[in-house]
Amino acid sequence: MSDNREPNCIFCKIVAGEIPAKLVAEDEHLVAFRDINAQAPTHILVIPRKHAKNILEVADTSLVGHLFSKAGEIAVKEQLQNGFRLVVNTGDDGGQTVHHLHIHILGGRAMSWPPG
Ligand code: 5GP
Ligand code: ZN
Repeated sequence: MSDNREPNCIFCKIVAGEIPAKLVAEDEHLVAFRDINAQAPTHILVIPRKHAKNILEVADTSLVGHLFSKAGEIAVKEQLQNGFRLVVNTGDDGGQTVHHLHIHILGGRAMSWPPG
């Protein structure tokens, strides 16, 4: 289920199993795996299998809902009931470095606000 893949996209390669990742959850629409450069004790990325550059390029609103609801489920499974943060960096000013839509799940420590 990785149609619409981008040949040079690192997250498409993770979806295809061409780059190893520590998988946390997956279903027909999404894959969740641990961030290689964790910024908190728990740092997981939830991505759609199908490539979309960012939130502005996803036509399928039910997919967006599914990604967020799965992110919440994963946070509970990871024992983050005390609080966690979901982050979607978008575009250059948003600090997006991998241009395949992803939700960061960050938890296991108190978060500060505002973000940098
Ligand atoms: P962004 O800055 O685009 O919001 O987040 C991209 C995230 O992807 C970063 O937190 C970065 O550490 C993570 N990342 C980049 N390359 C890889 C990789 O090959 N494997 C994993 N597991 N995470 C990656
Ligand atoms: Zn991709």
